[in-house]
Amino acid sequence: MATALFARREASLTAASSAPGWVRLGRIQGLDMRDTTLMQMALGLTPPWTVVGSDFDAKARRLDIQIDFPAGSRFTCAGCGATDCPAYDTEQMTWRHLNFFQHEAYLNARVPRVCCKKCGIKKAHVPWARPDSGFTLLFEAMVMAMVSAMPVRTVARMIGEHDTRLWRVVHHYVEQARARMNVSGVTKLAIDETAARRGHDYVTLFVDIDRSRVVFATEGKDAATVAAFADDFTAHGGDPKAISEVCIDMSPAFISGVGDNLPNAAITFDKFHAVKIINEAVDEVRRSEQRKNAELRGTRYIWLRNPTNLSERQKAKLDALPTQHLKTARAYQIRLAFQDLYDQPTTEQAKAHLKKWYFWTTHCRLAPMIKAAHAVKRHWDGILRWFDSKIANGLIEGINSLVQAAKAKARGYRSTRNLKAIIYLLAGKLDMQLPAFA
Ligand SMILES: [Zn+2]
Repeated sequence: MATALFARREASLTAASSAPGWVRLGRIQGLDMRDTTLMQMALGLTPPWTVVGSDFDAKARRLDIQIDFPAGSRFTCAGCGATDCPAYDTEQMTWRHLNFFQHEAYLNARVPRVCCKKCGIKKAHVPWARPDSGFTLLFEAMVMAMVSAMPVRTVARMIGEHDTRLWRVVHHYVEQARARMNVSGVTKLAIDETAARRGHDYVTLFVDIDRSRVVFATEGKDAATVAAFADDFTAHGGDPKAISEVCIDMSPAFISGVGDNLPNAAITFDKFHAVKIINEAVDEVRRSEQRKNAELRGTRYIWLRNPTNLSERQKAKLDALPTQHLKTARAYQIRLAFQDLYDQPTTEQAKAHLKKWYFWTTHCRLAPMIKAAHAVKRHWDGILRWFDSKIANGLIEGINSLVQAAKAKARGYRSTRNLKAIIYLLAGKLDMQLPAFA
């Protein structure tokens, strides 16, 4: 059956190739001049490099293109860029190139080491690949486009390469682009940590709020991360003294890190984190009350939500509870009142609201809520700073979703170095300067 089908296809091919107006290409083995010229043009080769032949192995689904140069050719030194260097000896090399239809394609060439007047014996520069890469520049550009859209592991599977080879390409281009990053003019910063792997390792991100890009990512979540940022920021044309607004959570490490390294930065405590502290206190009240009150079982997520976000089932459950007698319900009201803070139209009204809230909460006789109120008191100015800085939480959320995407793409790899590279790639607005498909 298969043979019959094959025969029919071959017959139709012969018919097509003998139709008037069609020039029949020479068979791949034993190329004629037309074929090599076509490949030469498609590869964009310039003298002294020329295509001298190719092998097509249909069974192995592989096309090998041979590139060579005439005797006496002169080359460019890969070390210093000096041209007109004579060859000293050669080494046979192979590079994976863009697929030839569904077949893997490889370039093969003997690459000279040159006698450079300045560098001595050095590898020659080849126009289609970086030194020591097993891929052509165009193949690498394709890899970079693919890893921006899907996990590296998936790309590796699709193109039949080991992922460690692809990570090497990713790191190369991201590091180059990162080295070119200019952060002069950055004055507003959001700092936040993200768990790299199941909460064991952390990566702290420094986000340029105005341009909504990650300008620095580093391991850890301690004060040293801010010191590392300040050094890196300076190295990329920024001035730590010019940072005027910083948005952070209430972690003492970030507070002291900012104080020590960003001397002119006013701190805004992130709204989401402030509400989280109150939420955790509500949950503590609920847990302790639930021990004596079985009705509270299964209500945990009701108290963590805003009334408008409750499902019908949760609403019904809440309505059925004797809320006026529950400590948890009181704690919940305190939380909702805290959230109302952020709806106050002016800084003055916000101050008055927070004062009232603090008085109420410190007199509520619920120990976890009183403790949370004291935490708010300690971070008073930074909480109220939001009314002046209006450092948008929405923006930070946007960055967070990019980071979550990066985590999904880097998943399964041991090193936070990989995660950082993907974070820069997706959220760093890098100038990648990839070779173009032109
Ligand atoms: Zn040189």
